[in-house]
Amino acid sequence: MGTPSPTDTMDDDLKGILDALLEGVLVLDDADRLLFLNAEAARLLGAPGDARAGRPLAALIGADHPVCQIVERVRTSGRPSIYDELELPQRLPHPIPADVSVALIGDVPGAGRRIAIALRDRSAARSLREEISERERQESYGHIAAGIAHEVKNPLGGIRGAAELLQLRADDDRSKKAAGLIVSEVDRIAGLVDELMVFARGDELALESMNIHQPLDALLDLLELERDFAEIEVDRVYDPSLPEVLADPARIQQVFLNLARNAMQAMEEKGGRLTLSTRMSLEHRLVGPDGRPLPTIEIAIEDTGPGIPADDQHRLSTPFFTTKRKGTGLGLSVARHWIRRHGGRLRIESTEGIGTRVIVHLPLRPPLQPAGSQADRLEFSA
Ligand code: ADP
Ligand code: MG
Repeated sequence: MGTPSPTDTMDDDLKGILDALLEGVLVLDDADRLLFLNAEAARLLGAPGDARAGRPLAALIGADHPVCQIVERVRTSGRPSIYDELELPQRLPHPIPADVSVALIGDVPGAGRRIAIALRDRSAARSLREEISERERQESYGHIAAGIAHEVKNPLGGIRGAAELLQLRADDDRSKKAAGLIVSEVDRIAGLVDELMVFARGDELALESMNIHQPLDALLDLLELERDFAEIEVDRVYDPSLPEVLADPARIQQVFLNLARNAMQAMEEKGGRLTLSTRMSLEHRLVGPDGRPLPTIEIAIEDTGPGIPADDQHRLSTPFFTTKRKGTGLGLSVARHWIRRHGGRLRIESTEGIGTRVIVHLPLRPPLQPAGSQADRLEFSA
């Protein structure tokens, strides 16, 4: 890199090269004032793009920023420091995970040394890793579901039949009631097992060309039947020019219903706003077998409910994880399952106190899959 010089006087060529790097690069003088900052470093640190040379780093990003604290440690120890996937705070709700390395420039001991900092955004790698472990989890649910179906569903039929018989033969009301309870509880368990079975069946999709707005509009009627949502305003932000998608309308309807139901339940107490939006997606990571990005539509279902505590967020798609008294904890995992079957992905963004946004990316047509394969072509295009 040569000798770093203040941003204003730095050779334009070198500045252009550093700005083009995917790595964030930051150089500080002997008193931790900014000598140089490239565009990526400005983005990762949330620093103004025109940050001027000579400003102390602490004034730029705050003395309690983790990068400031590492710099201090490096100064004190005289040794370079490397951190994997440090969470860099942002003005937006989500911090960016980044690898950070901080090193002293030159080998003159003591004060007077400049510091070079390199930052690398790890969010793409992290979300890929999360996708993979999510997929592995879903596959293991399939195995568990198949086991449960076999061991639980079959005897249920027998129990139900016997209870019905008791119900008919019982001559006092209490026994009749008790037998009736067995029947209805057996039905509830059978319903749960059926829901869980979607993981095991690897169901074929009944694909049709469809307008994605149609199941979204149908939602409102379906939900109106379930509860009175006078307190909830509904906003539709549709892109009317969206092309039709090739998808299974019944499954897609189920997905949207599960998501919207969660949104409505989240706003049950205090009311709020449900926003359904659609658009062509620019930011997508779905690629076809030829490695080229697939045209994708994005559907977002957003509520202004209480949001999801950070501690719960990684458990959301685990079957049976629920915080509701009468919840099944299957809504999200079933939704994710069907979106995956369509070759799409489902992402949840939630901030406590602000609300929750579930974003579905659906390719215009599911990528071709080898017969019997559960695997979607979910890869990174960048
Ligand atoms: P269930 O609705 O039966 O609890 P789900 O799989 O649909 O099961 O959801 C799992 C959990 O995720 C819920 O119990 C709730 O804690 C949380 N959750 C899902 N969607 C939202 C939302 N829009 N707002 C707040 N919490 C949500
Ligand atoms: Mg639910």
